Amino acid sequence: MNAKAQHDWFAVADLGGGLFKIHEPHVHRFFRANIFLLHGRDADLLIDFGMGLRPLAPLVSRLSSGAPLIAVATHSHADHVGGFHEFAERRAHSSEAAVCATTPDSETFAAMFRALDAPVTIPPHPDWRRDQYRIAPAPLDVALAEGDIISLGDRRLEVLHLPGHSPGCIGLIDRENGVFFSGDAIYRGMLVDDLPHSDRTVYRATMARIAALDVAVAHGGHGDALSVQEMRAVALGYCA
Ligand SMILES: [Zn+2]
Ligand SMILES: [Zn+2]
Repeated sequence: MNAKAQHDWFAVADLGGGLFKIHEPHVHRFFRANIFLLHGRDADLLIDFGMGLRPLAPLVSRLSSGAPLIAVATHSHADHVGGFHEFAERRAHSSEAAVCATTPDSETFAAMFRALDAPVTIPPHPDWRRDQYRIAPAPLDVALAEGDIISLGDRRLEVLHLPGHSPGCIGLIDRENGVFFSGDAIYRGMLVDDLPHSDRTVYRATMARIAALDVAVAHGGHGDALSVQEMRAVALGYCA
């Protein structure tokens, strides 16, 4: 497979300011998640990793600023950690560490993807078979906690623990620039709070917290970005 075909699996949008949004347009919409690459002076940050149906690392190295990469998973569901194993310096919340290390179907929900009528609109490889789809284990190098700072030199991202959708969901907030990467805690579209490890009571507390955040934009785990007004409307709507 040539390099162009590899890259065509992913769609890339340059959002400006050293921020790139990547997604997999050929993946079923339920599992079509966002991947963000943020350039920094001393390190680049990659947030989430797609389904792992094709290698993500070649695209990321093409888009890289040249600085070392820090890889952060917002949580350990299949649509966010499929390509996590391709990267070093892996970080996620401590509550997701065990799942990242062993990636059991029951916790990543990869089986749900395999069971879809049309998990992909085109096969990622000519010989791809859905029944062989698995998430490769990606043990963490760093277990994150609420309040941790990820420094890129010229930008600081603070870890917010935002449980509810899953126990160790996190968001990353750049308070100085008003940018919030919210993972699956909040995004544009139908939120999921009915997984076996979801917790609606805890999720409501997370949403109350999100509604009070002072940011300009929220980049969610799925769909287009939310303005602060849209983000607050979704969060307060959930709490109502
Ligand atoms: Zn999720
Ligand atoms: Zn997701």
